[in-house]
Amino acid sequence: MVLYSEDHTQETKRRGRIEVICGSMFSGKTEELIRRMKRAKFARQRVEIFKPAVDTRYSEEDIVSHDSHSIASTPIDTSASILLFTSEIDVVGIDEAQFFDTGLIDVCNQLANNGIRVIIAGLDMDFKGNPFGPMPQLCAIADEVSKVHAICVKCGQLACFSHRTVKNDKQFLLGETAEYEPLCRGCYLRAVEADKQ
Ligand SMILES: [Zn+2]
Repeated sequence: MVLYSEDHTQETKRRGRIEVICGSMFSGKTEELIRRMKRAKFARQRVEIFKPAVDTRYSEEDIVSHDSHSIASTPIDTSASILLFTSEIDVVGIDEAQFFDTGLIDVCNQLANNGIRVIIAGLDMDFKGNPFGPMPQLCAIADEVSKVHAICVKCGQLACFSHRTVKNDKQFLLGETAEYEPLCRGCYLRAVEADKQ
C-alpha cells in the first residue's frame, strides 16, 4: 500500500486537489480517510466529511470505520448538496463515494478548482468485480489515487475483491463480515465458480 506522501504543504496551504482512496471491503479505506482528515484538523484546517444518507450501518451522525475511530460527518442525499455546505471549508472528505450519483465528479472538480482539498474514499468494485458507481471517473480526475488492499481470507495474499457470501443480486447491499469476505483474484474466481453450483 502506498500512503500519501508526507508533504507538509498539503496541511498548511490552501491548495485545491483531489485524492482518491479506493479498494475492496476491509481494505482500510475509511481509516486512511480519517487519518488524513485528522492530520488536516491538527493543522487547523476546517474539515467536513460527507457520506451518502443510504449508508446507515452505524450512526446517522458519525463516520465510523471498522475499528470504531470515528469523526463527525454529515449524511446527504445528493452530491449537489455538498456545494451548499462547503463555503467555509478547507478540506472536504467523502466516504462511501461509490453510492453517490455521477454528479459527484463535477462537484469534486468544482471544489478543487475553488482551492479545496477533496479526499474521497470508496469501493472501486462491486461484489461482481464491476467498477462501482462514480469511482472510475473519480479516479480519472484525481490528482492522486491510492489503492489500498485487504488480506485474502482464504490464502493470505493481498485482496482486491469483495466476495458476497449470501445469495442476493442487488448491488446496493450494505453489510459487514456476515455478507462479504475479501479475496485475491484467484480465490475470488474459485469462489464465484463454487457459487454457481
Ligand atoms: Zn487468495
